[in-house]
Amino acid sequence: MEQRIKGSTGLLCLIGSPVGHSGSPAMYNFSFRHHGLDYAYMAFDIREEEAEAAVQAMRLLNVRGFNVTMPCKNVVAGLVDELSPAARIIGAVNTVVNDQGRLVGHMTDGGGFVRNLREHGVDVKDKKIVLLGAGGAATAIAVECALQGARAISVFNANDPFLDRARTTAETLAVEVPGCQVKVICLEDQKALRDEIASGDILVNATSVGMKPREDATLIGDVTMFRPGLVVADTVYNPLETKLMRQAREAGCQVIGGKGMLLWQGAIAFKLYTGLDMPVEEYQKEQEKSV
Ligand code: NAD
Repeated sequence: MEQRIKGSTGLLCLIGSPVGHSGSPAMYNFSFRHHGLDYAYMAFDIREEEAEAAVQAMRLLNVRGFNVTMPCKNVVAGLVDELSPAARIIGAVNTVVNDQGRLVGHMTDGGGFVRNLREHGVDVKDKKIVLLGAGGAATAIAVECALQGARAISVFNANDPFLDRARTTAETLAVEVPGCQVKVICLEDQKALRDEIASGDILVNATSVGMKPREDATLIGDVTMFRPGLVVADTVYNPLETKLMRQAREAGCQVIGGKGMLLWQGAIAFKLYTGLDMPVEEYQKEQEKSV
């Protein structure tokens, strides 16, 4: 790495807190090396109240771009000069590109989800999606699926503060993407969940349920809700196969895990920064070597 860094090396980085565990520096630096690009990627621990000063520093240092993680995603959306359509509707960014001094904010999580499905032969266009969750990941997925032509999205959330967020997103989508029918239903209504899944094409878990260390948890308690032909996608990537995925696979569904979403949201950001494709396969091989 040291031999690579020169006076001309351009900087990219991640801001948020905590960032010490992030896989982004390894992934982007591998990809810069692969393409022979004169860039380096670092992670900086930035709290929400420090985000404004951090964005000013990004401008001063003339970084090529930066990724944004929690808790800074929403506040940074209000500090950049321009937003992509998805980032504007969501009100949050995870990628900011410095376009000759103009900071343009994007949200690539939803695009990463849709791309991962496409890599598995599944297109969201004209599909009915049953979405569990209304947090950051779920909102990005709902907005991107609507923008990419999903016919309907039925959002189920527990009776917690995220339920109101789901209603706000549904109201915004009714104005921004009127061709997509968005419903919001409380997760306690298990009959509605059964009916929506029965008429749905793709079931998505975008809640934290099923994540380590609670791998024994799933929001689909009744496995008769699954049927062959239903696509079941999880955003959780640790473990690689969740209980939801295992039970859906056993019931004959096509299952798609969250690892690819993580990779593709990064690949979309890489393309925005560099105009080049991230060496996804090569990076996956590199990761397998280090396991
Ligand atoms: P968040 O805190 O913004 O949202 C949490 C969501 O989980 C809410 O909808 C909440 O109602 C729901 N939830 C939490 N506990 C629940 C319970 N016991 N019962 C029912 N619902 C419950 O979190 P987020 O950032 O949106 O992350 C959600 C999931 O998405 C996590 O598992 C995360 O790992 C995953 N994620 C994956 C990627 C990826 O690239 N694969 C990216 C972002 C997030």
